[in-house]
Amino acid sequence: MPPRARPFQFTKGAVHFPELALWLDAHDARRADEWVVVSHAHSDHIARHRRVILTEPTARLLRARLGGQREERVLRFGERTEFSGPQGDFALTLLPAGHILGSAMVLVEWRGGSLLYTGDFRLRPSPACEPCDFTLARDCDWLVMETTFGRPEYVFPPVSQVSADILQFCHHTLAAHATPVLLGWTLGKAQELLCLLANSGLRFAVHAAALPLARIYEQCGVRLGAYEALDDAGFGVPPSGGSGARPPEGGTPNAGRVLICPPTFAQSPQRTAFGPCRLAVATGWAMESSCKYRSGVDAAFPLSDHADFNELIELVRQVRPRRVFTTHGFAAEFAATLRDLSFDAEALVAAEQLTFALGVQPSH
Ligand SMILES: [Zn+2]
Repeated sequence: MPPRARPFQFTKGAVHFPELALWLDAHDARRADEWVVVSHAHSDHIARHRRVILTEPTARLLRARLGGQREERVLRFGERTEFSGPQGDFALTLLPAGHILGSAMVLVEWRGGSLLYTGDFRLRPSPACEPCDFTLARDCDWLVMETTFGRPEYVFPPVSQVSADILQFCHHTLAAHATPVLLGWTLGKAQELLCLLANSGLRFAVHAAALPLARIYEQCGVRLGAYEALDDAGFGVPPSGGSGARPPEGGTPNAGRVLICPPTFAQSPQRTAFGPCRLAVATGWAMESSCKYRSGVDAAFPLSDHADFNELIELVRQVRPRRVFTTHGFAAEFAATLRDLSFDAEALVAAEQLTFALGVQPSH
């Protein structure tokens, strides 16, 4: 039976094992004598570390996003690999997290016990990434889990229904001679929208920020269907960078196309180049009725790459850890929910966040 005490430090929102010189999703660039596991390539999980452990798709996405050089230790899913830390050996196993392409949960095993770190995850299968599978981590000692949507009102409808609703929005907008614009993050959501709507018969034009990442998805075997690149003037051009399709005489730029753009497009001056548009955001926060108005869009669809409330509970039930630590989103509320269900659970709050929350300046 491992000790009840927390076996790691929680520093600036990252899990840190000082004795092993190991970090999980460190936000600050770490030194060359430390290993950092990068669970996935979303911008809030990456930094210019010197030595990283990650999956092959995450390595490709990281190179595209950060450039530069670093020592990479690429692990396959399920491949248990031994490492030596300054005060002990440890083994790491990356497990598919189902969040975006290449996203990984991390199983850490060392002399003191075993810990599963989920990173961002989702149990619902997606055609755009590997299905979540944490079988190898069952009955671990500690579970550190993200709880972004850790309240009961965040139970998402079936993806098939959300896709049908998005499709209807696109058709209605086109029938009104306007351009449908689907807003989602450039990594993960943009590719998932393409994947889900690939057989719809619609034509897509994708913002430049999402294009190199979409190509990596395709190189890794994800089928995104046909799409064009969007140029600055608002005209679709082939991804290879050809001369581009021009609108029909007297027509609207991008007529007949569905645009896939980052959320910042809603406030972008570039928007005026596209003629009449109707905007829709794809996010789990669309479960809130105010989402549409807060985002300044015409429609909001609850398409998320995170686990919903039921999936968060399902994960804990299936992993059966001795103790759970929650982080991100509704961490305190979800830890309380787990305690009500007789799990041993505690929310992780970075010391500096707590200090600021109390209105006290840190002493160092
Ligand atoms: Zn993420």
